[in-house]
Amino acid sequence: MKKIIITLLAALFLVGCTSKVSESTTASTSTESQAQEKKPVVVVTTSFLEDIVNVLAQELVEIEVIIPANEDPHTYEAKPEDFNKLDKADLILYHGLHFEGKIVEFLEAKNGVDLTANFDKASLLVMEEDGHEIVDPHFWFDIELYKKATTNAYEALKTLLPEHEEVLKTNLEAYSVKLDELKEYGIQQIGSIEKSQRILITPHDAFGYFSRQYDIQVAAPQGVSTDAELSIEDLTKTADFIVEHQVKAIFAETTTDPARMEKLKESCKAKGFEVKVVSGEHQELYSDSLAPKGVFGDNYIDMVKHNIDLMVTNLK
Ligand SMILES: [Zn+2]
Repeated sequence: MKKIIITLLAALFLVGCTSKVSESTTASTSTESQAQEKKPVVVVTTSFLEDIVNVLAQELVEIEVIIPANEDPHTYEAKPEDFNKLDKADLILYHGLHFEGKIVEFLEAKNGVDLTANFDKASLLVMEEDGHEIVDPHFWFDIELYKKATTNAYEALKTLLPEHEEVLKTNLEAYSVKLDELKEYGIQQIGSIEKSQRILITPHDAFGYFSRQYDIQVAAPQGVSTDAELSIEDLTKTADFIVEHQVKAIFAETTTDPARMEKLKESCKAKGFEVKVVSGEHQELYSDSLAPKGVFGDNYIDMVKHNIDLMVTNLK
């Protein structure tokens, strides 16, 4: 009887041990698979930065975007779900230069990485805003500055994913070659427009760096701020400029109200000059956002090409 009890106890003990072992094995396997599935979350403010992270680290991270494509970052205000995104972020990347004017304090508070913080001041343009001089935030139309922001994003991603440094570096170098090709394409294409017609009129002043990069004169009836109403004075001044230079076409943008350019056209008409407004689906310039997913221009390189081709078609 004693022997039976001992055997039973031993059997129970063994069963206990076995089940414990198998439990702990299961637990460790599931933790490992979770770790494999769970990618670091990178939160970016705009479609440009989404594209940069996609190019550098598409397979390695989960990307969350705050300001959707086609929305205006100058006027964007934070929504409750944005705070959830920022809370779960392993890395936050933003443009800086006050581009994300109304949410920048939240990005700073969450230790976001300002991708333009180390830009050389001498490489940046200034513009006037309500009588004050401010830095022009639309740096992405200068390809050298865009490359610098991409390199800064690479550095931040490398810190997040040190084990993937080689992949990130390879992607950065391959992209840099493509950006150089894009720059050459732009210089050649814009250069094919006769100098006297190489004038770009857009609703808000977003193409200063583009002007410097591709040698095309720019004018806009409105400064950097996209929420202010257009004044009659600004409208008249730009209309006079269009008539004086016999500008063939003026351009709408995806992130601002196209009605502004129609007003400008009417103003020119009153002065006896017909100017074409380039607007409508796939006929607007992308200035402060890429195209929505699935539309040509949903990555930076295609977006710049779309803009360049639209200008050449209508100004040449
Ligand atoms: Zn802008």
